[in-house]
Amino acid sequence: MTFDPPVTCPVCEEVLELDRDLEDHLIGKHTQREVARYVVSQQERAEIEPVGEAATPNYSSH
Ligand SMILES: [Zn+2]
Repeated sequence: MTFDPPVTCPVCEEVLELDRDLEDHLIGKHTQREVARYVVSQQERAEIEPVGEAATPNYSSH
């Protein structure tokens, strides 16, 4: 049994119809610039949010 959850466009947050492809939506509804801008904003966000364990306190026994 195949169940496809509805796909949400990450660019405009529109829920796509079940028979619609995200790729078709991006090509049909968005310009290359819009998609590029989204990708860049995702990368910027990834740089702001710390990834890893930078906040882990590093106590040494005293
Ligand atoms: Zn969209």
